[in-house]
Amino acid sequence: MIKTLRFWITLLVSFAMIGILSITLLSGYYVTKENLINNSLEINRVYSMKLARLTEEVFNGMQSNLQVKASEISAEIDDVEKLSSTLANLLTSSKNFNSLSVISKEGVVLATSPELGIVGKKLDTAGPKEALLKRKSLISMPYKAATGRLLILVSTPLWNEKNQYLGFLSGTIYLQEDNIINTILDEHFATDGSHVWVVDNKGMLIFHPDPKRIGEMIKENKVAQKILGHESGAQKVTNLEGKEYLAGYTYIKSSRWGVVSQTPYETSVKPLKGMIYKMLLYALPFVLFFFLLTIILTERLSSPLRKLAMFSAKLKDNEEQNQYANIPTWYFEAKQLNETIHEYAKSQQQRVENYKERSYTDPLTGLKNRRYGDKVTTRWTTDKKQFSVIMIDIDHFKVVNDNYGHHIGDEVLKFLAKKMSHILRGDDVCIRLGGEEFILLLAETDVQEAMVIAERLRTTVSSSLCPTNDYITISLGVGGYLENLETIEELYYRVDKALYQAKTEGRNRVVLSEV
Ligand code: GH3
Ligand code: MG
Ligand code: MG
Repeated sequence: MIKTLRFWITLLVSFAMIGILSITLLSGYYVTKENLINNSLEINRVYSMKLARLTEEVFNGMQSNLQVKASEISAEIDDVEKLSSTLANLLTSSKNFNSLSVISKEGVVLATSPELGIVGKKLDTAGPKEALLKRKSLISMPYKAATGRLLILVSTPLWNEKNQYLGFLSGTIYLQEDNIINTILDEHFATDGSHVWVVDNKGMLIFHPDPKRIGEMIKENKVAQKILGHESGAQKVTNLEGKEYLAGYTYIKSSRWGVVSQTPYETSVKPLKGMIYKMLLYALPFVLFFFLLTIILTERLSSPLRKLAMFSAKLKDNEEQNQYANIPTWYFEAKQLNETIHEYAKSQQQRVENYKERSYTDPLTGLKNRRYGDKVTTRWTTDKKQFSVIMIDIDHFKVVNDNYGHHIGDEVLKFLAKKMSHILRGDDVCIRLGGEEFILLLAETDVQEAMVIAERLRTTVSSSLCPTNDYITISLGVGGYLENLETIEELYYRVDKALYQAKTEGRNRVVLSEV
């Protein structure tokens, strides 16, 4: 079935609204997602910076702890017992070191705290070697100690008063055990999967919430690569296990480490789902409101056109039109259409009226024709109205035509028509049956009255000078309709017989038909 304008407008508006809503939600989704990502990156970047500074401060503090004790230790270098007790004191007061030791300039362990069982042994691992070589305050690279531990060495050189190098005082951090880095960074381990890790300048993990991973080389990690390039910043990164993170990272110049704070990508964008749902929830009342408004407006917009369409459809079926003013037209197109259609309807109706009129009229005399007569008698018989008929035929009309010509003959017909019209009353109808034969249909008239009228007509005609400048006569048959007893055809037949009788009896007379 063909759809209405209202249907199409509603469909169009629905599409537009769904489209706009989708675009809004989609753009909201992407903008929010970008914001969440940027926020998370920024938070992690700032956080890694803060942690880096904190770590740096702690290490600086550790180094100054050692430096402060350096001259005291230098003075006690030959007294192993004193050395041990000084170290023990320092270890308790500082709390930042896992162990402390004094190493001679030959690399031999002079004292340790706690007791490690390595006093008297010569160390040839990376950390001590570097300290002996450089003879300055250092934070070593992570290395494996003689005890098998992975550790970092913080050291400060020892000099006597004569400025002779004696060795160094060092503190260690055991990377895979409880240590100061853990203490600082583990606090920042969040339940949402965010975590911190630290990588050294060779790409080795020196801190990670999972202690098993400490010591692992992660050079392939994109963030680790940035740190190896001495960069700080923030970016999305996929870890070696394929999980995505938003990471902020800061390179620490003094230790040449990088501190990385990262949040799982999933966690960062998790609020998105809830937000989209909320946006929909907030938008829904407005969408419904506008949709309702649209429906109402659509109805207002389409209703004039629909009414006009229905009106035109009735026009097509030639139905009576009497609802011109009923169509509300509040916009240009509908107003224009309404006016045009109504004007057209009016003229069309006029034309139909004219056509009907013509189809019921005899063109020569202006009287009604047989067809109209039939309509009237049908109506009268249906309404059970009393009526009578007079059938009229001009006497010797051929002679008129022959003597004066057809044209004058026509004038005579018009003359008679006029005479007959004059005697019509109310609903009476005069019909030209054809040629010079006529019928008068007399409404609500009994046969006696009809006889009187017929007689009056006959005398009027016979005594009036007609267009031939002479007189004509007419013969008339009269009959009253017998309700329920005969048909119109039977009545006409009867009256025609009376007319014939009037002719045969000498013309110019009225004969009442026999029942
Ligand atoms: P009667 O007294 O028996 O009726 O004789 P009549 O000559 O009138 O005979 P009839 O009724 O048979 O003749 C009808 C004539 O009317 C025949 C025809 O020439 C003439 N006629 C029919 N229609 C018209 C018309 O429209 N105009 C004219 N001028 N003559 C017509
Ligand atoms: Mg005739
Ligand atoms: Mg005649």
